[in-house]
Amino acid sequence: MKKINPVISIILIIILAIAGYMFLRRNDEPKKSTFFAFDTIINLTVAGEDAQAVLDECEREIYRLDKLFNVHSPQSEISFLNENAAQSPVKVSQELYGLIKRSVEYSKDTHGAFDITIKPLVDLWDVKSGKNIVPSQSDIEANLKKVSYNDILLYPEWEIGFSSADTKIDLGAVAKGYATDRLCEIIKNSSCHWALLDLGGNIYCVGDREFSIGIQDPKGERGEYFRVIKVKNTSVVTGGGYERGFEKDGRYYHHIISPYDGYPADSGLESVTVKGTSSEMCDAFSTAVFVHGKDLAKELSAKNKDISFIIMDKNGNAEEIK
Ligand code: AMP
Ligand code: MG
Repeated sequence: MKKINPVISIILIIILAIAGYMFLRRNDEPKKSTFFAFDTIINLTVAGEDAQAVLDECEREIYRLDKLFNVHSPQSEISFLNENAAQSPVKVSQELYGLIKRSVEYSKDTHGAFDITIKPLVDLWDVKSGKNIVPSQSDIEANLKKVSYNDILLYPEWEIGFSSADTKIDLGAVAKGYATDRLCEIIKNSSCHWALLDLGGNIYCVGDREFSIGIQDPKGERGEYFRVIKVKNTSVVTGGGYERGFEKDGRYYHHIISPYDGYPADSGLESVTVKGTSSEMCDAFSTAVFVHGKDLAKELSAKNKDISFIIMDKNGNAEEIK
């Protein structure tokens, strides 16, 4: 048998090694996906061999959850509950039941600052519509009476009722957090090495990699940060009135409503960032602290060792609360 020239063998081995390395690298390139759901822009970046398949699964999961939690869609499960639960208890999915049950707990933990029965006031202010109308004091008072998480009745066997005909639920302050946690589970159960999940301010850094996350300057342009933090296997949720609102007669009105007085919350804060392993809890607590103020951040971080806050007040002072 003819012997292969050793020089050619070495060259062949080198070529094969380079090709193999390039192939592996190509399969490891992070894959990205951007789409609109949950009323926000969703940016997902996933690295690993099956990244594209995992991204597709994440996208399907988001659309599935949207059908459960989207109050703006008459076909969603939450809309069905809102329409019928005052007449008689409605059997809902275990997922919706679980999210509503935990949301009631978040209300108790936050002295009612976070309250998913806020919907009548959210609809009254209608900040998202762009109509920019400030409701009358009497309309605000009338709708404030309709808001109380105590009117949600949780029965066994996944049944939910409302004790008042006026009760309506809006999951806008917590559903993105729940969805982020679900995507995090998908990534952890896959062969992917890491992922950066960004659901419009609800971020989860997944996997064995440290990320630098910029925290939006509430007074700056989009993408202008007042702080950059390093995190690993952690969710970072930022919220504040600066995200959505309108100006009328020199005053600014935004989308986070205080269940205490029915007006856009004004606790002296500009934005609230929450770090923790449950994106859902971070989401709920960021809304709650924005409504209630700095003292609640201290109380919640003392009770939950896993949670910490970075708050920015109206004078531009940032503070970390652990
Ligand atoms: P977030 O962006 O997470 O702070 O949530 C804000 C959204 O949650 C609003 O657009 C409303 O749909 C809803 N919301 C407003 N105020 C409250 C509140 N005090 N408690 C619970 N949900 C609220
Ligand atoms: Mg929230």
